[in-house]
Amino acid sequence: MGSTLLRGAVVVDGSGDPAVPGDVLITDDRIAAVARAGEIPVRRASQVSDLSGLTLMPGFIDVHAHSDNAPLLEDVDTSKTAQGVTTEINGNCGFTLAPVAPENVDGFLSLVRRIFPDHDWSWHGYAEFLDHAADAGLPTNFASLIGHNTLRIAAMGLEERPPSPTERTAMRRGLEEALAEGAVGLSTGLVYPPGVYSGTDEIVELAAALPSTAVYASHMRNEGQHLRRSIEETLEVAERAGVRCHLSHLKVADRRRWGAMDDVFQDLAPRRAGLPITQDVYPYTAASTMLTALLPPWMHAGGTRPLLERLRSAGCRDRVRAQVGDPTADFENYALAAGWENIVLAGSGTGRYDGASMAEIALGRGQDPVDCLADLLIEEELRATMIMHIMSEGDLRRALDDPRTMIGSDGLPRGNGGRPHPRGAGSFVRVLDVYVRRLAVMRLEEAVRRMTSLAAETFSLPGRGRIREGYAADLVAADMTTVEDRATYSEPTAGPRGIEHVWINGEPVVREGTPTCRRPGRVLRARH
Ligand SMILES: [Zn+2]
Repeated sequence: MGSTLLRGAVVVDGSGDPAVPGDVLITDDRIAAVARAGEIPVRRASQVSDLSGLTLMPGFIDVHAHSDNAPLLEDVDTSKTAQGVTTEINGNCGFTLAPVAPENVDGFLSLVRRIFPDHDWSWHGYAEFLDHAADAGLPTNFASLIGHNTLRIAAMGLEERPPSPTERTAMRRGLEEALAEGAVGLSTGLVYPPGVYSGTDEIVELAAALPSTAVYASHMRNEGQHLRRSIEETLEVAERAGVRCHLSHLKVADRRRWGAMDDVFQDLAPRRAGLPITQDVYPYTAASTMLTALLPPWMHAGGTRPLLERLRSAGCRDRVRAQVGDPTADFENYALAAGWENIVLAGSGTGRYDGASMAEIALGRGQDPVDCLADLLIEEELRATMIMHIMSEGDLRRALDDPRTMIGSDGLPRGNGGRPHPRGAGSFVRVLDVYVRRLAVMRLEEAVRRMTSLAAETFSLPGRGRIREGYAADLVAADMTTVEDRATYSEPTAGPRGIEHVWINGEPVVREGTPTCRRPGRVLRARH
């Protein structure tokens, strides 16, 4: 690839230090030199790139990604690189695409088919999956947590019970194998089956296998009525297991609890003295997940076939109706927390209702919302996702204020079409455009630090996340006067303006605002 001298830009190096005009020399896949403007001789480079008027930053790290299948898509998905994202931490919310046990393939497919497009799911171990992904070609650098739900399904399917000693050993072995392959930590998704059936002790036992370089990241049991209790559980896991913890997509996901983010940070403050605690947010007031998450946990036990049978049963529907209408019900009750009118169908197999609210769909079908939900899930064979307008801007801003908050898109797997949440294509540019440029609630240098070096340090990615000699040439050059997030709820995949150049491992993936559709990403392995 030779050497390229990047001249004329203002450099924001990822450390949080003030921006300075500077030169950066890229040689092959590395940053070979960083100096003040005009100090790197042109003869050191085989080509010179003039970045006058642009701000040069380390490539952004999406710490909360679900792009596990992105390498497997035939067309390169450019939704992340177009925003300046060069590295993604996958395997969040308890789900990874490996390990898969031959005897529990059905349980695995029962869940992945609800949210991933069809692929050839022919691997078993985590190492085998990584080889498969790397062979297909990685659009961004690929790091991954290992998902507790996936480990549990491999060990015992979608059973609603505690694991036996043998099953606990199998889960632990799966985790250790993934850590040996460089997985950056363990993730849980305790609202989803089968994580929702696990107790705290089960998680502590697994988390205790994590080395000090790894992180425990949790999509907590409840982000609404019982948010503070769920945070307490997460901290208990971290304290008992002696590991660092990371609160995934921290939010107050219940209209009745808006304003509670202040209490959250008050709870966290004294605990931070003894425990490294970090968190990520996506800069939106709507959440998004699979439509089946509206159902109480008992509906999911055993997998797809029993779930479909329960959805057909009038008795089960009555029980669901009573529970989702009960403000004291002890599960993550999104229907009540958001309201059916604020839950919008994002994508489905047929696509016929994408963009309409559950209240509208039910009204149009002449049904009550629970019957409508049950019939929709049956008709779509469980393959449907939703967007829930369930958070407040005030709580989001409070979380963004904390110096330990990173940005994670939480963008759902690509390749499904529909009308997904704009966070997948907009999160990082939205931070620059809305929170840095327009509202000025974050300094550019601080926003960049959270999106780069803080993320690299938290998730054990040495040599990434800064503009520094010897670091990987993952870089983004943006015009901060025009940078604009254009992804909206009605046009969710619209790419940004103002992200002019992006390099991954020294190779251009965006050139003059246009994605090059290359796949220069690498598997990033934590060394534990
Ligand atoms: Zn999640």
